[in-house]
Parts: sequence; C-alpha cells; structure tokens
Amino acid sequence: MVYKAEYLWLDGSTPSVRLRSKTKIIADGSAPPIWGYDGSSTQQATGDNSDVVLRPVLTVPDPIRGGNNVIVMAETLLTDMTPHPSNTRAACEAAADKFSDFDTWFGIEQEYTFFQGNAPLGWPENGFPAPQGDYYCGVGSDVIFGRDIVEEHMDACIMAGLHIAGINAEVMPGQWEFQIGPIGSPLVADELWIARWLLMRIAENYDVTVSLAAKPVPGDWNGAGAHTNFSTKQMREDYAACVAAADALSTNAPEHIAGYGAGIENRLTGQHETASYKEFSYGVSNRGASVRIPWQVARDQKGYIEDRRPNANVDPYVATRLIINTVCGAATK
Ligand code: ADP
Ligand code: MN
Ligand code: MN
Ligand code: MN
Repeated sequence: MVYKAEYLWLDGSTPSVRLRSKTKIIADGSAPPIWGYDGSSTQQATGDNSDVVLRPVLTVPDPIRGGNNVIVMAETLLTDMTPHPSNTRAACEAAADKFSDFDTWFGIEQEYTFFQGNAPLGWPENGFPAPQGDYYCGVGSDVIFGRDIVEEHMDACIMAGLHIAGINAEVMPGQWEFQIGPIGSPLVADELWIARWLLMRIAENYDVTVSLAAKPVPGDWNGAGAHTNFSTKQMREDYAACVAAADALSTNAPEHIAGYGAGIENRLTGQHETASYKEFSYGVSNRGASVRIPWQVARDQKGYIEDRRPNANVDPYVATRLIINTVCGAATK
C-alpha cells in the first residue's frame, strides 16, 4: 500500500510567515524524499525561476488521516541546496550546534484566538462580551468557547508524538493556549509549527479560524503571546546562572523585540500582564516584567526562566536562536 505524506513549510508572507502544505503519495517502504513547490505562489521566488526545494526535517504520524500516513515538517532550500533566504531554521540549527554544550531546553506557551467570521468565537453579533475576569481556565458555556476543537487538537498532538505539555483557556473569551516542551531547538520549533498546523486544520472542520495575531482585539482585552521558557544545563543546576541569563537578555533587548513577532508594540504596552517593549525588566513571580523567574525556581535555587515578550505570531526558529545566541554567548565571554 502507498501512504500519504503531508509536507508542511513556511512561506514568504510578510509581516508574519504562514504555513503551507501539500500531499505526496509515497510507496510503502520508502521514506519521504526531498520535494519542491512553486515559490512564485508563496512570495519566495519569481515565475521565471520558481522552484523551491523542500527538505524533510521532522516526520510524525498523521493523527488526522491515521493509518500509516505522516506529516512532514520541511525546510526550504534553493536549488543549489543552500538555505532559501526565508529559511529561519538553518540559522537556528547553527546556533544550537555552536552552543550544543549548553543543552538548552525550551517550553513555549502558544496562545491563540479562535475567530468565526470577523469576531472572536463566542462574541455577540454586536458589541462586546462581559469584561475579562471569568474566562481564564473557566468552565461553562457562558465563559468557554471552542473546547471541542481544543480537546481534538490536544489528542492529535499526542497521537503525532509531539511534546505537548498542556492546554488552558485564556483571559479573553475565545482565547486559548497550548504548550510544547521542554525540549531542545530547533525540534521545539519544528513541533510548534506542526502543532499550529494541526490546530488550523482541525478548526477548518468547525468553520473556525485560528488567529495568531498579537493583539486580535484592540482595547481592554489581553493580547496573545508565546511565552518562551528556557534553561541551560547550568541554569537547571544553579540559580546564579538563571539570573545571569536574565541579565544577558537585558543587554540585547531591541534585537529580541525586533525578532519577537509583528505588531509587538501593540501588545507589549505595559498593561494586560505585559511589560512595555521599550523597557527591559525581570523579577521573581512578576507577570508584569519582560522576563519572569518562577517562584519555584527562586525557592529551588535552580531551574528556568520565562521570556514573556514573544508574540503569538513569533517564528519560534527566530526566538530560540536569539535566546541561544544572547544567553550562551554571554556565558562564554
Ligand atoms: P505559566 O505559569 O507561565 O502559564 P505554563 O505552565 O503554561 O506556565 O508553561 C511553562 C512551560 O515551561 C511549560 O511548557 C514547560 O514545559 C516549560 N518548562 C518547565 N521546565 C523547564 C525547563 N527546565 N526548561 C525550559 N522550559 C521548561
Ligand atoms: Mn501558560
Ligand atoms: Mn497564557
Ligand atoms: Mn507564561
């Protein structure tokens, strides 16, 4: 029997890249090969030189099609087999290789917002729902919207073998979160992109779309982030290394802000559990800081820290590369 391989890749959309995918039928016993697509339809090539190469980087069981079908996360290459200019994974992998001694782990909290038509799922046709307060981790159909999709997505991630750590309903109605990790990069980013694709694909069946917008509704409503928790081997053994990592991030804040996703100034306002994108701060238990040191980490005197700045629409290849280079680079000075 043949099997179906759904190849996923990142396009050249601005200001945020988007997922694309297509299916290849493969003979039983053969691994998913190098493949390609029309880059002139994805903002990655001109029509007269349109071929972009797909190289598989992670293959997992396909929980939607089942059987022996698979999902293949691929990276994009030029036809000379060098990374395509829009390929952010290659630089991420190079940073991870350069600092492999640090054994960096990442746990990324992906927040997102379901939409139906032009409004978040569960919002009234006209006007606004009741103000924030009762939605976060709530129960009951007056405060929870889209749980069937969330449950189906969580099961799909587990069946695909992804390192999903949990889910929760968020502060704004129609807003949710799942977490991937803790695992190394670029694997965490490969898995996060597959998990995003599964969510969007499953939501199709419910006529619902998934927004990764940083501030999906303006005004007094929480934005959507991708808090990035990370640790090095040293941080997992020693509190001073956790503080040193936060200090290292403070020296390089503008570069991180620039790489943490489109529209970050609209989300990191200093309100709604964020710190202003203009100022760097860190503190124990502080959800109003750029970087939070969890209270258990201060108590245990070892562990990890949380960079709260990345947007929901961040490219995790970029965020994890920046953190590896800044934190491990400072520790080797
Ligand atoms: P929050 O309290 O900010 O909502 P979550 O429980 O949603 O926190 O997410 C915490 C994340 O931290 C999880 O994804 C988990 O995998 C990750 N994490 C835990 N320990 C480590 C570690 N040592 N290194 C990196 N990430 C970690
Ligand atoms: Mn969380
Ligand atoms: Mn959250
Ligand atoms: Mn968090």
